[in-house]
Amino acid sequence: MSEALIIGGGLAGLAAARALGERAHLLEASDRLGGLARTDVVDGFWFDWTGHWLHLRTARWRAEAARLLPGGLLTVERQARIFSHGVWTRFPFQVNTFGLPPEVVSECLQGFIQATVGPEGATLRSREPRTFREFVLRYLGEGIARHFMEPYNRKLYCVDTAELSADWGGRFVPRPTLAEVVDGAVGRVREGLGYNATFVYPKEGGIESLARALAAELTGPVSLGARVEHVRTAEHRVRLADGRELEYEQLLSTMPLKALCSALDPLPDSVRAAAAALRSVSVTTVELGVKGPPRVPFHWAYVPEERFPFYRVGSPSQVNPGLAPPDHTSYAVEHSHLGPPPDPARTIDGAVRGLEAMGVLRRSDLVLARARTIPTAYVLVDHAYAEARRTIVDHLAAQGIELAGRYGLWEYSGMEDALLSGESAVERILAKLERSTEAKVAAY
Ligand SMILES: Cc1cc2nc3c(=O)[nH]c(=O)nc-3n(C[C@H](O)[C@H](O)[C@H](O)COP(=O)(O)OP(=O)(O)OC[C@H]3O[C@@H](n4cnc5c(N)ncnc54)[C@H](O)[C@@H]3O)c2cc1C
Repeated sequence: MSEALIIGGGLAGLAAARALGERAHLLEASDRLGGLARTDVVDGFWFDWTGHWLHLRTARWRAEAARLLPGGLLTVERQARIFSHGVWTRFPFQVNTFGLPPEVVSECLQGFIQATVGPEGATLRSREPRTFREFVLRYLGEGIARHFMEPYNRKLYCVDTAELSADWGGRFVPRPTLAEVVDGAVGRVREGLGYNATFVYPKEGGIESLARALAAELTGPVSLGARVEHVRTAEHRVRLADGRELEYEQLLSTMPLKALCSALDPLPDSVRAAAAALRSVSVTTVELGVKGPPRVPFHWAYVPEERFPFYRVGSPSQVNPGLAPPDHTSYAVEHSHLGPPPDPARTIDGAVRGLEAMGVLRRSDLVLARARTIPTAYVLVDHAYAEARRTIVDHLAAQGIELAGRYGLWEYSGMEDALLSGESAVERILAKLERSTEAKVAAY
């Protein structure tokens, strides 16, 4: 019997397994560790599973990442752009409308003023926003909603913004002051606003080098190709897809919460209903390799308009030139969807067409094009989210099951959060192991 079984070898599972040392057995469904923090090398191009930039907030993980990565880290000042109305502007949209057609800038400014101090915004100001749409209208106004927030978020989440919760906006959308909005309209640059003004990235090996470095410090057993299919909570046993059965004292899951619920036995009706209410979108990324230097400088660009099928395009080689062969540029073009992946050939064609229309590349320069899908990419923070998630988390806590990671916890978060959540789950597991040892000693 393992003292602790960990489901999932992404960053959350790796951080947890490393902290638990020989006491943990790590189970990973795929044939490689790293989860979303993996990098594929194709014809000299290095593609993460879409751009994975490290926004490290804690001093400890900044130091730890520098220690773990033998080639060191690049510190990069964000070049995030937006393409709309045929022009390139800076991100975040709300404080960078300069350069857009004058009528658009005017709508954004007037809308912001009405929302924050004018009579038209009085009703929304008198109460808490009930939806993400109301949050945007309340804090940013109609123009910014119409020209960026609504179309971009509709494209990313594949639902109307009224279906998303106001709480989501409150945590992740910067709320500028009037001075910042006015400065942004007249071209005084405010690029640092928002959560990711600078970031770090491995100098060598893509983001997977971080996962590999963590894996190199594991001292407990690791099983690859070990997909957990069934969890019998009362007996503390899991069954893998290959039929193997494993017993555990403590269980930590980083696999998607909704999938974990499907594996639970027994599964109370209330938890089944809550799991059915959890929604997420998939992302299909078109990876492109192109001859020549970049035609438009950006690390990543947001593309809100409906005429383009993708919501964002990243350029890995513009962050780290080592991610493409010399004199080549790479792009990762992100499309989100509900349900099964779209036809790869059509998706690639639409991405290339769109990027040509934006002046980013010429089809004749393409040397590589492929598409791949992340089935669970963004959880939907809709109106059912908080209660459904709470019902499931409470049930699992009562069964003694710990959760960590972006999908294990079913939340919107980044790589550092995954690492931290894996480590904090270990603190709870160690405390429980300690208590159970004390109880055994007392009984003896
Ligand atoms: C499009 C996109 C872009 C992103 N960009 C960034 C970024 O720039 N910066 C940033 O900080 N974060 C970014 N993120 C978020 C980041 O990828 C995650 O926060 C982090 O990688 C999550 O790690 P994890 O270990 O929680 O989950 P995962 O990486 O998903 O790992 C979970 C692991 O569990 C395994 N597993 C699943 N089911 C089972 C099962 N039944 N049995 C056994 N194993 C199983 C999976 O194979 C996987 O290896 C991005 C995410 C997406 C979708």
